[in-house]
Amino acid sequence: MAVDRSNPHFDRTERAWRQLLLSAAAVYGKIPGMLDMVIIGGGVHGTYLSHVISARLGFRELAVVDPYRQPLTVWGRHTQACGMRYLRSPSSHNLDLDFHALREFAVRRGWDRNTAFIPPYARPLLRLFDEHAAAVIRENGLQRWRHTGTVRDLILHDDHVTVTTEHQRLRARYALLAVGRSAALCYPRWSAALAAAGDVVDHVLAPTFCRQRLLHSDSPVIVGAGASGVQLALATAAESGTPVTVISEHEIRVRSFDSDPCFIGPRCARHFLAETDYSRRRAMIIAARDPGSVPEEVALQLSRFRDQGAVRIITAAVRSVRQTGGRIRLQLANGIDIQSDCVTVATGFAPGPPGGALVQQVAERYNLARSADGFPLPDGFLRWHPRLFVSGALAELELGPFAPNIIGAIAAAKRVGAFLLQRDAPHRHHWVPLSRLWDSAQSA
Ligand SMILES: Cc1cc2nc3c(=O)[nH]c(=O)nc-3n(C[C@H](O)[C@H](O)[C@H](O)COP(=O)(O)OP(=O)(O)OC[C@H]3O[C@@H](n4cnc5c(N)ncnc54)[C@H](O)[C@@H]3O)c2cc1C
Repeated sequence: MAVDRSNPHFDRTERAWRQLLLSAAAVYGKIPGMLDMVIIGGGVHGTYLSHVISARLGFRELAVVDPYRQPLTVWGRHTQACGMRYLRSPSSHNLDLDFHALREFAVRRGWDRNTAFIPPYARPLLRLFDEHAAAVIRENGLQRWRHTGTVRDLILHDDHVTVTTEHQRLRARYALLAVGRSAALCYPRWSAALAAAGDVVDHVLAPTFCRQRLLHSDSPVIVGAGASGVQLALATAAESGTPVTVISEHEIRVRSFDSDPCFIGPRCARHFLAETDYSRRRAMIIAARDPGSVPEEVALQLSRFRDQGAVRIITAAVRSVRQTGGRIRLQLANGIDIQSDCVTVATGFAPGPPGGALVQQVAERYNLARSADGFPLPDGFLRWHPRLFVSGALAELELGPFAPNIIGAIAAAKRVGAFLLQRDAPHRHHWVPLSRLWDSAQSA
């Protein structure tokens, strides 16, 4: 589907909008209680964007609204839950504003280069990444922007937005949706039968996931053999000493990254951005992604654990599931029956646009442009509406397959920053370093 130019938010020229917004900004700068921006969601994306917008673009009236007081709570929960050791992305993808910051931090703090990073892309240890992120948040005072709460309603006016949580109402010139995908998880269809019978299948990414249950199981089973499932199996087997069974519909797939990094640079990005048909962009995103794959060092450790009998992989679909005498019985398509006292699924996030009722409501209320599969069609500055920016998966039809990842937050900052710095031609900033954006702003 091509972008709907008849949408009321796209039928004026960029320049006309910009003039309108700038004159409104001049007025609102003087209104007490009017923030520059409210960022909805304070995970990796919201926190990084608050860093760029405050430290580099000089906006001092910000709010980052998130149900958790601590930044990156969901990131921490997900990565701890599956026992991840190394990030899948390179050290240049970090929360500071310089691509080298994480590597320099590691040197300053005396981390051993040989264990702190995995070559050839210098993928950092999770512990190092988290320590660096905490230092960036502390040293830049990013905590001060946070407001605890869940955004229940978002009203988009011509010249400002109103954001309502269970505790407060905020007014700002702009809002930015950085809500992540954690609210909607993907459960296999067969798990509904157990849920209906009152039993729960744990999802490794659910807030209720309890690793202890798996560690104390006499026959732990994990369904799903992507990075989360395999790392969870390795961590569980290593910690509990009990052999773990992993059931997967596909063979183990080994890939360095979860999507083709070519789209981060000009070679693929130009091609992606030149495509005006959004169903073709969607097809490019699907082709570029490798869900359910594991990086090389995880695959290597898995093959060692398999040889030792610590992890067993069964390649088959689950046909049906039953509860018998407190145990779960999984019948597989290859005829094998598996019984367990603890089944955990590691089947990722639900497909479809994130943000749940809030995003749905805003899209419908303001008739915002969406693709056939319901994802936002923002403009080149990631504005879904003249007052509303998007980041993460909500921006993927404009940024490309990597949009939900850490590098997606960096790419989003370039586009949003280009708008706030009154740059034209947002696509030009897609693959140049972020610093180039404000360097050129200073020399302008
Ligand atoms: C196990 C795992 C490992 C990963 N490893 C990597 C990696 O190595 N490298 C990489 O680049 N990417 C990785 N990713 C992908 C991605 O970087 C992470 O998922 C990251 O957490 C996404 O950040 P986010 O801010 O978009 O979402 P989140 O971290 O989920 O944060 C979104 C926040 O928004 C809040 N929120 C949602 N709705 C509302 C609302 N209505 N009001 C207020 N707040 C709201 C949520 O509570 C949450 O705190 C990984 C993902 C997973 C699951």
